[in-house]
Amino acid sequence: MIRRSARRPRREAGVVRRDPRSERESDAPPQAGPAAPTPGRTPGQRPELAPVIIDQPEAIVIAVPDLDRGRLTALDRDLIGAARVLADARRGAVLVVAPSDCADDLGSAGADRVVRYATPAMGTYLPAVLAPALIGLADRLTASHLLFADGPAAGGDLGRRVAARLGVRPAVHVTSLTAGEAVCRADPGRCEIVRAPPRVLLIEAGCAEAVTGAPHQAKPLSELVLGREPAIIDLGPVQVDRSAVPLVEAELIVSAGAGVSDWAAFHRLASELGAAEGASRVVCDLGHLARDRQIGASGAVVEPRGYLAFGISGAPQHLQGIARCERVVAVNADPHAPMMQRADLAIVADAQQVMPALTDLIGREKRRA
Ligand SMILES: Cc1cc2nc3c(=O)[nH]c(=O)nc-3n(C[C@H](O)[C@H](O)[C@H](O)COP(=O)(O)OP(=O)(O)OC[C@H]3O[C@@H](n4cnc5c(N)ncnc54)[C@H](O)[C@@H]3O)c2cc1C
Repeated sequence: MIRRSARRPRREAGVVRRDPRSERESDAPPQAGPAAPTPGRTPGQRPELAPVIIDQPEAIVIAVPDLDRGRLTALDRDLIGAARVLADARRGAVLVVAPSDCADDLGSAGADRVVRYATPAMGTYLPAVLAPALIGLADRLTASHLLFADGPAAGGDLGRRVAARLGVRPAVHVTSLTAGEAVCRADPGRCEIVRAPPRVLLIEAGCAEAVTGAPHQAKPLSELVLGREPAIIDLGPVQVDRSAVPLVEAELIVSAGAGVSDWAAFHRLASELGAAEGASRVVCDLGHLARDRQIGASGAVVEPRGYLAFGISGAPQHLQGIARCERVVAVNADPHAPMMQRADLAIVADAQQVMPALTDLIGREKRRA
């Protein structure tokens, strides 16, 4: 079933994020009963929870996290949470497949079983050999589902390879999941495809809650033996000049109008934000930015998640080009400029002062993170 989506606030990857803390603090029953109180525990210390053990699972759900430098990402934790949704509905077990140098406690993340595989070096990407090995594992264990992360790290490449080899139509960009229904984001967020969960699912961040509470057993199974890597040399990620990303594809655009005069500050801000650069026609006419950066009726029609307009008046021809932007921030010396009416956040200020201040702030936040 395909249904049109109402425009709604998006978290990182396009879904409304539930508030797990408030849900936890509600009267929901715990996932597993607490073990006997630990002697000598100091007041306020959380009691240790007995591990959840699923001895004879009635189904196996395989989760394959992407990892970042050997650690589970937030998306990976949501992915394992999504696997739990499918497994728990059938008294099944979640089996996490991870490289041997994965440093995280996979039981706390929700794994009942763990299968490791060796890699030549941390972070080595081995889709060509991992995909057939995973299919062999899934067949041996008659796994009901295989779940992969549909995130920025590998773009869901491994999951798509597995689905192609299996000849199944995967559920991609899954934003919400129950035992009977996978909701998939389609047509850049404008509609949703709802279907029964197929064998291969590619999960977006926020699709399910990360597992908290009692750890799962994380029982190690025998190592996954990978075949010989074909003659493909992974040269690693390609550096992309984000400011040059085609405007129609950009998720974040920093745009300049005639109110911008400090061009070095403008380029620094776009680079610090990792945003594409856009402009009004006046700016392109004056040659400050190339014509392919022009946004509006006679330029590009864009629909990023965020649009930051510096010193742009908001003429109708320009506003036509940003009608579908999700969030607009405008900085303008004139509070009555039409762009300020269009903006979700309007800042009455000199663009030349806001741009370096924002660049500094983002730089500080990045260093703190
Ligand atoms: C057929 C046609 C097609 C067109 N197509 C397009 C199009 O595709 N795209 C497009 O953009 N335009 C297009 N235009 C032009 C459009 O009508 C406007 O002229 C243009 O968008 C204005 O650009 P601007 O907002 O940068 O400049 P201005 O209208 O000059 O506005 C500059 C803004 O900067 C503010 N400002 C000044 N100094 C500062 C400061 N120090 N700090 C902060 N703010 C400051 C001012 O208050 C003002 O709001 C088209 C026009 C026609 C006739």
